[in-house]
Amino acid sequence: MSKINDLRHTPTLALRQRKARLVRTFSLRPDLLHASLLERFLKCGKKQCACHDQGAKHGPFFYLNRSFAKGQFQSLLLKSPDQIRQARQGVAAYAGLLAVLDEVCQINYELLRRGEPPGEPED
Ligand SMILES: [Zn+2]
Repeated sequence: MSKINDLRHTPTLALRQRKARLVRTFSLRPDLLHASLLERFLKCGKKQCACHDQGAKHGPFFYLNRSFAKGQFQSLLLKSPDQIRQARQGVAAYAGLLAVLDEVCQINYELLRRGEPPGEPED
């Protein structure tokens, strides 16, 4: 989750400038993925295989998992290095987007705490 930035001693003008820059540079990346990329090593179904008793499991296998309400769940086995790379980029893009949104929201919280309008100052 996001960390709390201590903005209480940052001048209001600096907060507004920081936020203006974040809002200006904000862009919705087309490859966004809200999901977890998991790497797994697995045992197979063959009883004689070394994966069962020598710890030489198969893998890594990469899964892209999405969770929904009520324990609903999607899991996609990624089959190519390109898919894995694209998934990794999409997940990172989502994290970056969340970080920007969160910073804007923290600045707005601080502006409200000061009695300042979080929207643009009236002009
Ligand atoms: Zn095996």
